[in-house]
Amino acid sequence: MAGFRDNIRKVVPYTPGEQPKRVDNLIKLNTNENPYPPSPKVEEMMKQVTGWRLYPDPAASKLVEALASYHGLNKDQVFVGVGSDDVLAMAFMTFFNSDKPILFPDITYSFYDVWADLFRIPYVQKPLDENFRIVADDYKCENGGIIFPNPNAPTGVYQSLDFIEEILQANPDAIVIIDEAYIDFGGQSALPLLEKYENLLVVQTYSKSRSLAGIRIGYAMGSAELIKALNDVKYSFNSYTMNQPSIAIGAAVLEDEDYFKEVTGKIVSTREWFKEEMKKLGFSFEDSKSNFLFVTHETVKAKDIFEAAKANQIYVRYFAKPRIDNYLRITIGTDEEMKTFLNFVKEFIKM
Ligand SMILES: *Cc1c(COP(=O)(O)O)cnc(C)c1O
Repeated sequence: MAGFRDNIRKVVPYTPGEQPKRVDNLIKLNTNENPYPPSPKVEEMMKQVTGWRLYPDPAASKLVEALASYHGLNKDQVFVGVGSDDVLAMAFMTFFNSDKPILFPDITYSFYDVWADLFRIPYVQKPLDENFRIVADDYKCENGGIIFPNPNAPTGVYQSLDFIEEILQANPDAIVIIDEAYIDFGGQSALPLLEKYENLLVVQTYSKSRSLAGIRIGYAMGSAELIKALNDVKYSFNSYTMNQPSIAIGAAVLEDEDYFKEVTGKIVSTREWFKEEMKKLGFSFEDSKSNFLFVTHETVKAKDIFEAAKANQIYVRYFAKPRIDNYLRITIGTDEEMKTFLNFVKEFIKM
């Protein structure tokens, strides 16, 4: 075999949820997108964006300043990237450089082990308990850093700020990253802890709660020291990651707080109603504070429901992985979409 092949980096990539070609009547509950359109500010802003000939502002200052003021931080405490996947990848590269393993749960966002492998970061995955909760004591050993989502994905389980603080207190020598992709659906952000812990990084995204998965905006918030380190790595890699429209639109939608509250409120109330309906059908699940429900059925196999639903143009997410291969992750869509899903399931489990 030619020797050049030895020098090719071998990685097993992350598998994103399926993005089927648009067909009529398709109900897409498989990638946690928001069923409602983004703020009308997006259209407005889109018409105003000019200056395509020039490179965008590498610091994305308008967006950084808007986010800082929205969250009550200084502008040197915010780092923006092309979706939180970009931000998280940069954070892995920037902060996880120890010989000691980084720690994250066995059941969690399946990009973490991919980045660790890509960047050759040693890691240990700590098992969630039988109720899919993170066990604090597992994170009180020597480590090279800690990351988990809150609420966790794909379980939807939320852990309180006291829990986050317990982890921070036990780990003054490690950087702790809380991935808050789903925090706007009922949880409390760890942002207030930034004042006390300079080793905390909080990551959020526009993809779920702000209905802007297509625009690719994510951001990290932390101490000026951590944010500078992130920027140094970013500028050593690609200075112009944020394009002009993203910067302008990302800043503009933050002004539309009423719309944001309305949309996230609708999803939360659909979720709470959907929980009750699913219980009646024999499904069980841990409580979710996200825009999805992670369910298992008392008799019918998750994989069978997944496949039958897909044949009926309803997409949900199924993971053929240890411990969760009899579960489905179902994104909360509109009431209408969830009713269609429930009707399908009612018929299917009768068979
Ligand atoms: C969706 C998701 C992300 C990535 O979202 P972006 O679209 O890249 O911002 C990150 N972490 C978790 C846990 C997610 O579910």
